[in-house]
Amino acid sequence: MFFLKEKITKRNCRKNLDHGRKNMKTFDWKTEEKNMTTSAEQLRDILGLTDEETKKMGDIIEKYPLRITPYYLSLIDPEKGESDPIRRMSIPSISEQDMSGSFDTSGESSNTKVTGLQHKYHQTALILSTSMCAMYCRHCFRKRLVGGDSKGETRGNIPEMAEYVKSHPEITNVLISGGDALCNTNDVIREYLDTFSKIDSLDLIRIGSRIPVVLPERIYGDEELLLMLKEYCEKKQIYFVTQFNHPAEITEESIKAVTALKKAGLVLRNQTVLLKGVNDDPETLADLFRRLTAVGIIPYYVFQCRPVIGVKGQFQVPIKKGIDIVQEVINLQNGQGRSVRYCMSHPKGKIQFIGKTSSGRVIMKFHQAKYDSDAGRIFAVTLDDDACWLPEEIDYEEII
Ligand code: SF4
Repeated sequence: MFFLKEKITKRNCRKNLDHGRKNMKTFDWKTEEKNMTTSAEQLRDILGLTDEETKKMGDIIEKYPLRITPYYLSLIDPEKGESDPIRRMSIPSISEQDMSGSFDTSGESSNTKVTGLQHKYHQTALILSTSMCAMYCRHCFRKRLVGGDSKGETRGNIPEMAEYVKSHPEITNVLISGGDALCNTNDVIREYLDTFSKIDSLDLIRIGSRIPVVLPERIYGDEELLLMLKEYCEKKQIYFVTQFNHPAEITEESIKAVTALKKAGLVLRNQTVLLKGVNDDPETLADLFRRLTAVGIIPYYVFQCRPVIGVKGQFQVPIKKGIDIVQEVINLQNGQGRSVRYCMSHPKGKIQFIGKTSSGRVIMKFHQAKYDSDAGRIFAVTLDDDACWLPEEIDYEEII
């Protein structure tokens, strides 16, 4: 339906990217905001939409906000049209009007213990530090809250969250996520790091962010941020969890951000979402993982795309197909790339897809369980070939 015009060129986007970079010491969100694509009218100019298409795009954006950085826009290959993987992940599609699915497929909100803090697994506290992201991914699993009113799920009071963590010594790590953790100001990030680095029961702090992929200059161009990360890494190990989904996202710019994080002392891990039309073929995914390990990022999860409203029909890959893809990818990796696990985030826990039996059943294992009775459980499930998710109540079959 929509076609990129010639005018979306790397040169044009680069001009925007260069904006404000001179003498940058601290990232300036206000200036960056002005350069982002956020409206249907901007998309009309970029893509050459008709009035009717602009109106439809506007309706989608009203429901699910649009935000694309000039840098990420510059990665789109206009020659590929709508099938370009970068475009699929960033530019709205008419398929987002499909209302099948759910907004909270993993029962996240029910795990909220104090505003902004979820506690599902014994060892981990998940902090939703903001509802903002530098780019709103069209495949986002938190569409219910990103870019808008989070209805009490994000931006909690940090001392209150710290009290919760201290009173639950079984929590050994916190994951500061969002939205995107690096969309917070440096002062807010410092408050999180300062607070959690002082809690003895925590072994490590994780930061969840797609900024290296969509706005790398926020990292390599911000000396204040890098110095702060280095300072707190010396107090408590910080892991940086990012989300590269396609080899085209690994660029000179993103490598500069990754290198800066490594120099600051952070350990990097990647979670990839398996996405139809983006990375659902073994060659693409294998290439991505090899490039990740080459720049020092260990790919540790491939996540099944969740059946979120506006995402489900567009991006989900059947589980059985996913198992074949991921196994082929693993066969092509070195030891580092082989540590990846193909999992889904189910309300009952993180379930790993192990493989298929000769009769076509799928063998699964609880990698992490919400309930102790499920911890480590290995089971089989009879699945249709086109099944993309498990029901809330799972029919556990014996493996025979
Ligand atoms: S960065 Fe994460 S939370 Fe933000 S839009 Fe993308 S998938 Fe959603």
